[in-house]
Amino acid sequence: MKFNYCCPKCQNSEIAIIEGGAFKGNIYNTLSFGLSTVYLTRYVCTNCGYTENYVDDPKDLQKIKEKDIRPGNTSEFV
Ligand SMILES: [Zn+2]
Repeated sequence: MKFNYCCPKCQNSEIAIIEGGAFKGNIYNTLSFGLSTVYLTRYVCTNCGYTENYVDDPKDLQKIKEKDIRPGNTSEFV
C-alpha cells in the first residue's frame, strides 16, 4: 500500500497519506517505546477505509530494533 498506492482490500488507488508527528498536528499518530516516541505515517484507503501504519524514519526503526530484539546467545552479560 505504501509502495504501490493501491488498497490491498479493494484495489482502490486513492490512498490518503496522514503523516505523524506533533509538528504536523497528528500527535496521536504515534507509538511509545519506553521513553521514546515513534511517529507513524498512516495510509488510508479513501474507498473502504482500510488503514496501514508505517514507521517512516529509519532512526525510529532502529529504536524499535534495539527495544524489541530478543537476546539470542548473548552470554557476555551473564
Ligand atoms: Zn480499500
